[in-house]
Amino acid sequence: MPGTMVIRNGYVFDPLNEIDGEIKDIFIKDGKIVDDLKGNSLRDAKVIDAMGKTVMPGGVDSHSHVAGAKVNGGRMMCPEDRYKWVTKKGEITHSGSGNTVPSVYVQGYDYAKMGYTTVFEAAMPPMEARHTHEEMRSTPILDMGAYLVLGNNWFIMRYLKEGNIEKAAAYAAWMMKTHKAYGIKCVNPAGVENWGWGVDVTESLDEPNIHFGITPREIIHGLTEINELLGMPMSVHLHANNLGNPGCWEVTKNSLEIPRDVKVKCNMDVEWPKTKIDPQRNQSVYLAHAQFNSFGGTSWRDFESGAKGIVDYVNKTDHVVIDNGAVPFGPATVMTGDGPAIHHLYKLTGNKWSNKDVELECGSGILSFNYMKANPVHSAQWAIGLELLLLVNDPWKTILTTDHPNGGPFTKYPQIIAWIMSQKAREDTFAECHKWAQDRSSLGGCDREMTLYDIAILTRANPARTVGIAHRKGHLTAGADGDVTIYDFDPTKLEANNYTNIIKGFQNAAFTIKDGEVVAQNGQIISVPKGRTFFSEPHMGDGLEKEMLKDVKEWFKYYTLGFANYPVPDKYIRNPSPVQVNKPLESIVVR
Ligand SMILES: [Zn+2]
Repeated sequence: MPGTMVIRNGYVFDPLNEIDGEIKDIFIKDGKIVDDLKGNSLRDAKVIDAMGKTVMPGGVDSHSHVAGAKVNGGRMMCPEDRYKWVTKKGEITHSGSGNTVPSVYVQGYDYAKMGYTTVFEAAMPPMEARHTHEEMRSTPILDMGAYLVLGNNWFIMRYLKEGNIEKAAAYAAWMMKTHKAYGIKCVNPAGVENWGWGVDVTESLDEPNIHFGITPREIIHGLTEINELLGMPMSVHLHANNLGNPGCWEVTKNSLEIPRDVKVKCNMDVEWPKTKIDPQRNQSVYLAHAQFNSFGGTSWRDFESGAKGIVDYVNKTDHVVIDNGAVPFGPATVMTGDGPAIHHLYKLTGNKWSNKDVELECGSGILSFNYMKANPVHSAQWAIGLELLLLVNDPWKTILTTDHPNGGPFTKYPQIIAWIMSQKAREDTFAECHKWAQDRSSLGGCDREMTLYDIAILTRANPARTVGIAHRKGHLTAGADGDVTIYDFDPTKLEANNYTNIIKGFQNAAFTIKDGEVVAQNGQIISVPKGRTFFSEPHMGDGLEKEMLKDVKEWFKYYTLGFANYPVPDKYIRNPSPVQVNKPLESIVVR
């Protein structure tokens, strides 16, 4: 019976249900987790023997660059990434290529082999939404969604400056529906608009930008307010100002303080499972790739880790979740909506670089990059990425990423897991890399070794909860999607010192199961189902939307695109899975 199976006797790690390595059977019926299987269903179910193995919910990546214009730009910019890394066509799989920016097929297969079933594209420019959806549609196996870049959007800046938060919210709601977007992303607020004029904002959060006269602080507070006014699934996802500059940790910390008073209100029309830990988010801001925003020092000479300032702040507050954006060394492609940050990196390195302005909305920069162990700054960045996971006390405030492909490709996740699970793994890398990793960070003094339970939080339970998808992902409660990963190691025999086994185990899952079907087994792709596309449909009053659209149509003359060609047509969306947000009560709907 397709979609129906029993996974017997594995050691189960399911943090949202506080299950920590208990030996349990997991049942899936018609693609969904159930408490039990009986009669015919049990008789016809596929049985997987997981004895002596590790069982977790399917992996969820809440921040990765896997679809859209800048990802494709990255592919075009590094032909060397294409001929060195070739994946041959298989019986059921496409050929493909690429390491730091793999082609869409390869990225789907590689995530599935590692045990991931759900991945969110971290930055979708509205005008490039069609392209983003095309690439998500072509990525096999994975359920996906994309965050819409709104932090330098003309309409948002204009409404916020006018103090018209409701119209700004109506615009954001309309934009989410129009582009089939999942959450709100804010990149270098006020700074990217300035970059259209060749300058960034400085280190002050109170500097008004050109023309709109709005400050980073006003945008961060405004967008986080809008987000909660709408009751979005995830909080605003913030890429803070001054990223990648020595000393930037301070601006980051001050930015995180801005939405501290914003009251969280997740208002989704879904049924929440009864898990032991509340499956709903409680953060009002989710900081992206914190490593790049945690630089200390005042110049590249006295550069050091600024992680302590961020970690202390996250430890003492309850409204922030971060993903780390680790640097695992090796080739990368840096790509972001933060054009000036990439230009800065271009001036430092002279590497291949591209820059783009997306009309009234945002921009982007792309740069080929290589993180080297011999490089003092890169070595310190490696340490910062790990500090951010190891020094935050509560793992429910952290998520493991490489900000793929910015810190490195997502295929390096197993290596990062090894570093946070094994002090020996860290010491071995200290011995190989530049001494700044040791001297300019506090990583060397950290003896924490994370457990498989922690890893399950950082790679499934918490990303799912943070982005508001834990009504169906990130745990193994009845009703959840039948996404399960079985890793081929016995947790009772796992030794942190023998970390090569950890890397091997996480690289190729014994089984990756999606919707109750085996999609990957021991590094082989077994089936290639089409994933879903998640997006939010937030509702604001019709009258307000009409008023707002008048403004949009008036200003649309500044676009090179016709208004009719702006929305993403339904046919671009693979298996549409919208979630209703801020839905009006039936009783007040005028019929
Ligand atoms: Zn990113």
